[in-house]
Amino acid sequence: MKITLLTGRIFDIKEAIGMDIKVIPSRSYNKLSLRIDTKERIPVLSVPKFCSRKRAVNFVNENMDWILKSLRQIPERKNFTDGEQILLFGQPLIICHCPQQRGGVWIEQDKLCVSGGREFLHRRVKDYIKKRATEEFTNISQQLAQKLGCKLSGVSIKDTKSRWGSCSSLNHINYSWRIALAPLETINYLMAHEVAHLKHQDHSENFWHCVATLYPQWQEGHDWLKKNGKTLYIYQ
Ligand SMILES: [Zn+2]
Repeated sequence: MKITLLTGRIFDIKEAIGMDIKVIPSRSYNKLSLRIDTKERIPVLSVPKFCSRKRAVNFVNENMDWILKSLRQIPERKNFTDGEQILLFGQPLIICHCPQQRGGVWIEQDKLCVSGGREFLHRRVKDYIKKRATEEFTNISQQLAQKLGCKLSGVSIKDTKSRWGSCSSLNHINYSWRIALAPLETINYLMAHEVAHLKHQDHSENFWHCVATLYPQWQEGHDWLKKNGKTLYIYQ
């Protein structure tokens, strides 16, 4: 793999380290740093402007155990499949492929029924979750905003990789659709968190106090997300 630095020099360290690696320029003057891009399943090396190829290779090799361990820990990505159980807005549902029927995707007791061809099942389930998430998350967030006496201009559902939610200065909130697959406590916690940002733009003591006012059991949902949030990335 060829790597380009801000200085314009090109390093080829794939051979030297024996694996693919993404190299990006670092804002730091002298510090090298590594992280794992869990979506691409690849290590990312941030290289300062005047770093030699040798130093970059050595740094990666020194951290190879950590890289390999981190890559192994990324769950395999999969599609939604017929017969598997998912948690949707806190309700356990079994995905049930109904090719003979019409009607898209619908819930029947404890089943999430999906019509159409098998090759479209994953896409249909995902689209359904996104659509429902838009409705449900807008409802919850509007209610919380009202409780807080703040104006919420809108809610969007995104496929963000790095954040579960975000609140803009224009009072617009974005959520990742994957949160729909988390336990209800986590959904409620995240909504309380983002809505609390309508009032406090930081993570100060006042902010957390506000979260607790909106959702007193927030801690449980918060801890689940911290510990298990990565598992929500299993679906592609
Ligand atoms: Zn926040």
